[in-house]
Order: sequence, then structure tokens, then C-alpha cells
Amino acid sequence: MTKNSSFTRIVLNWYEKHKRELPWRETFDPYAIWLSEVILQQTRIDQGMAYYLRFIDSYPTIYDFAAASEDEILKMWQGLGYYSRARNMHSTAKTIVREHQGQFPADYTSLLRLKGVGEYTASAIASIAFNLPHATVDGNVFRVLARVYGIDTPIDTGIGKKEFTKLANELIDRSQPGQFNQALMEFGAIQCSPKKPDCENCPLNNLCIAWKNGTTDALPVKRGKTKIRKRYFNYLVIEHGSYTYLNKRTGNDIWKNLYEFPVTETTEKNDLASTLKEHQSFLATGTEIQIKKETDWQKQVLSHQHIFYRFIYLKLAGKVNIPSSLIRVNKKDIFNFAVPKPIEKELEQNNWF
Ligand code: SF4
Repeated sequence: MTKNSSFTRIVLNWYEKHKRELPWRETFDPYAIWLSEVILQQTRIDQGMAYYLRFIDSYPTIYDFAAASEDEILKMWQGLGYYSRARNMHSTAKTIVREHQGQFPADYTSLLRLKGVGEYTASAIASIAFNLPHATVDGNVFRVLARVYGIDTPIDTGIGKKEFTKLANELIDRSQPGQFNQALMEFGAIQCSPKKPDCENCPLNNLCIAWKNGTTDALPVKRGKTKIRKRYFNYLVIEHGSYTYLNKRTGNDIWKNLYEFPVTETTEKNDLASTLKEHQSFLATGTEIQIKKETDWQKQVLSHQHIFYRFIYLKLAGKVNIPSSLIRVNKKDIFNFAVPKPIEKELEQNNWF
């Protein structure tokens, strides 16, 4: 038996004994698999499960998902981040209903043409729902293969991705590709974890080059960090009678189509006076302003950006000039809007609304 065939057999046997029972493992429905895979690209299984169950309960079929409004989908997605994924899913659901009679295309190339469906997701749907031999290569798979085969090509490079994908496709069990893909990812998540892999009790340790050479901590290799952009957001939380004001984010930027308090963005932390000056267009002759509170700066870490943000609470009375870009919202309705994480946290911590 070759190293590759032993590897495949061992991983599948391990999976039979150790796999976690998860609802998306009970189905071959491509819609449910797609939903679970996209959610799990965002979060851990325990948190992802709650989101998956909420989505599948509310939208049991792709027709239900496609028929929902984008605001409803974004609200349910709230907290998972990468909101473009939710918007792309919604657009893809509509395409599938409109152009494919509600059926996912049953081949890899056609799946890849769907908006927001990359190589990983196309492989997951193709292999699990349609039994086609396409390897899913996620962080878990990179790690297991880098260690067992002693590969130090950086995984965040084009060459690295190609090399690992080729190897994973050679290893795949062609009679049960979906099962093998899930087995290898689960093996990476549980047995060959990033820190403290359980090498002593690992059924692959006889084959594993990293274990033999004592290099498990050094693999996989990453080329380097991407440059982080720092941004500073000053939010104005306005109370005007029983109303507040929200802005819907547009343009090609983070949190597109989510709602937020009126905001000014600066390139460094600025003081209260300058923030208020930038928002002066709000104020009409005779507007009464009370500054109720100013929060400390907080930080939200995104993959390529660090967002520093703070909230300034204002109570306005009398006439105000509200820019037409803002939406007037009854304060008690604010929880119905899909908002980015910093606003969600602020609303949870503060009983202003
Ligand atoms: S021996 Fe250790 S490093 Fe190698 S596959 Fe097993 S758990 Fe991973």
C-alpha cells in the first residue's frame, strides 16, 4: 500500500470513530450544504450551528431564501462578518431560482460561475451533494498535509495553493469524495489542531514527517502578514424626541448595505469638538444640543483593517437639518436593522434605546 492510499484509509477510519454529529452531515441537499459551508467559513462550529439552524428554519428551501428581502438576510447574518458573503448568497439564490429552476448545477465548473462561490465552496457542494471528486482545501487541510508530507511551501501563495490542492486531489477517495473531504477537515480540526496536536495518539504518526522531525509547530508556513489599514469612525447617536437617525452604508466598502449611526471617518483619533464640527450640517438656527455621553475608543479587528470607533450621544431639540441620506427611525425599532458589530455591541451594552 502506498503512503497516499494508507493516508486516505486511515483518515476515513478515524472519521468513522470520531466525527461530530452535525445537522448538515445528515443531508445531501446542496442548498443546506452550501448554507452550512458559507457560515462555517465565518465562524466556529458551535456558533455556526445556531446561525445554520436559524437560517434553515426560516428559509427551509432555496425558494424561501431567494424570496426574503436583503435586509432580512443581512439581519439574520448579523454578527458573522464579511457581509458581502450574505449578499452574494442572496443574489446566487435568486439566480438559481430564476435560471436553474431552483436546482444547483451538478458540476464543478457551473458551480464556480455562481456569485460568491469560490473553489472551496464549489468543491464542497460538488463532492458532498453530487459525489464528484473535488478536494476541499481549507485551513485544516493545509495543516494536516503540510505536516504529514513535510511541505514548507507557504500556504498563502498561489504556488502553495496549487501544490496543496493537487496533493489533496490525489488523495481523495473517488468512491466517497464528500466523506473524505469532511473526514480530512475534521481530522485537522480535532486531531491535528493548530496548537498541541495529539501526535502521540495519532493514527497518522507513522507517516507524518513533521512528527518524525519535530517540526509540527513550524508547519504550515505562511509567507507573511498583509498590510493593515487603520480607520477611525466617529458615530453620532442622536436622540430627537422619540427618533434617532441611521445611515445605510453603500459603495464598495466594508459593511455594505448595513445600517449605522451617522458617522465621520478620520485618519486618526480626533477630539469631540472637531467631530461635532464635521456634523454641523445637522444643526439649524435654534437647534438645542446636549452632549449626553462620549464613549472611549474601541477597536474592531477585520482581516485587513483595524477599525477604531467611539460613540457620541447627543440629545437634540427644536428644528434640525437632517440630510436626505439619513433615515429617521423610531428608537424602539432600531433592533430591526442589520448593523455592523461595533453598533451591535454598543446597543447590547447600552440601554439608551
Ligand atoms: S502526528 Fe501530529 S502533526 Fe502528524 S498528523 Fe498526527 S497530529 Fe498531525
